[in-house]
Amino acid sequence: MNINKLFDTAIIGGGVAGASLLFTLSRYTDMKNIILFEKYDELAQLNSNPKANSQTLHVGDIETNYTFDKSIKVKKDSSLVANYIYNFNGIDDFGFIRDKMILAVGEKEIKQLKERYEEFLPLYPYLELWDEDFLSEYEPKLMEERKEPIMAIGVRGQITTVDYKKLSESFAQQALDTDKNIQLHYNEEVTMIVENNDGTFTLHTNNSNFNAKTVVVNAGAYSLLFAQSMGYGEAYAILPIGGSFFFTKEKLLNTKVYTMQNPKLPFAAIHADPDCTQSWNTRFGPTAFALPKLERYHRLHLKDLLRALHLGKAVTKVYMNLFKDKTIRRYIFKNFLEEIPVMGKKIFIRDARKIIPSLHVKDIKFAEGYGGMRPQIIDRVNKELLMGEAKIEESGIIFNMTPSPGATTSLAIALKDAHTICKYLGVAFDEEKYHVEIETRQE
Ligand SMILES: Cc1cc2nc3c(=O)[nH]c(=O)nc-3n(C[C@H](O)[C@H](O)[C@H](O)COP(=O)(O)OP(=O)(O)OC[C@H]3O[C@@H](n4cnc5c(N)ncnc54)[C@H](O)[C@@H]3O)c2cc1C
Repeated sequence: MNINKLFDTAIIGGGVAGASLLFTLSRYTDMKNIILFEKYDELAQLNSNPKANSQTLHVGDIETNYTFDKSIKVKKDSSLVANYIYNFNGIDDFGFIRDKMILAVGEKEIKQLKERYEEFLPLYPYLELWDEDFLSEYEPKLMEERKEPIMAIGVRGQITTVDYKKLSESFAQQALDTDKNIQLHYNEEVTMIVENNDGTFTLHTNNSNFNAKTVVVNAGAYSLLFAQSMGYGEAYAILPIGGSFFFTKEKLLNTKVYTMQNPKLPFAAIHADPDCTQSWNTRFGPTAFALPKLERYHRLHLKDLLRALHLGKAVTKVYMNLFKDKTIRRYIFKNFLEEIPVMGKKIFIRDARKIIPSLHVKDIKFAEGYGGMRPQIIDRVNKELLMGEAKIEESGIIFNMTPSPGATTSLAIALKDAHTICKYLGVAFDEEKYHVEIETRQE
């Protein structure tokens, strides 16, 4: 058996979560040897790919599914990625300053929007209230054939759009540019993690074995499977929720347009996003539907899926509770129908018309090859669906599951893990350098 040298940290998963940790550890700690394993041939092939997500930097200013407290946290966490984009030459490469808005349709939503504006203005002083006169000049498609009154909270001059794959590549390049021993192993799948008697870990891959003093698993839904294979995280199960998109045949909007959240629904309402990899063509979505897969557009591993689902009394109770609610039941059914060819477009268009009322079925096409899987966590003990990220921390090993807005908050999650690992290994973290380069925006 070929046991390679002992790494300080091994990272499993080359999405934006893994890449941001690689960057943070290599640049701001005294660690000398770090290895990252990615089972596909490039970084960010799954949820961190621009085809899989909405490319949004979630700041909490227009996300009406966030409470005030959640917005305070997301604002702080997202600022790390925004600062990185500014300070590491990312503007117009992987981070984009584009306008965005949250659109209220009808008197009831307009009232809520105005209340939200007053409440959130102290936190985001740049928010603007946009009325119909302004909107008909600024985004005329929002007004065409519109019957109900509308109003928006708008944002100009901020980073709103990120290509998280390019961001991951930038993180990896910065790590490789240090004088440390940084190893990136592509096409190398970790198949098993074994904790040794001396507290180190052996990682078995499809090619070899590697030893590490600490391990961080940033492998999407597979993070939980790794944890459970080692006897941790038994309280959790995964509900895999797919998300698909529709493109318009021509570019219709210049602005990201989000819609007001129905507070009863667990997932964010659909929005329209100019796609930074498709000449800013308009992409609507994402939908939200239960899909029996852990990775979109990849082979189904039934055994893994069944292990992740943990179908049993507690999980069934969570499903039943979701189905009990009429609004959620309808929502689940509608989202399922949206995946059916031809019929799907006809159903989806009704939601999309909330943004562009003049939209016709012939104007949109299913975005084939786009979309991802949200590994939503079910807490089997409290029998509830958790909406945010989940972390399992054990001695020397961390497992992260990062549904939305996990790409936005990737550096914040990495910072927390870096502190934990440094403490565990007794290694220094250069707080001052981090503060200057990541917590501060250099003009
Ligand atoms: C439809 C949709 C829209 C979204 N929109 C947004 C958005 O606009 N803004 C936002 O901030 N977030 C958004 N998200 C969430 C965001 O995409 C994720 O939070 C983020 O990409 C998670 O990054 P990750 O690195 O944890 O996971 P991933 O990007 O999925 O990376 C996990 C990596 O681990 C690798 N891996 C798995 N198992 C192994 C193994 N055994 N060995 C080696 N490698 C392995 C995989 O190949 C993969 O590359 C969206 C998600 C979806 C599904």
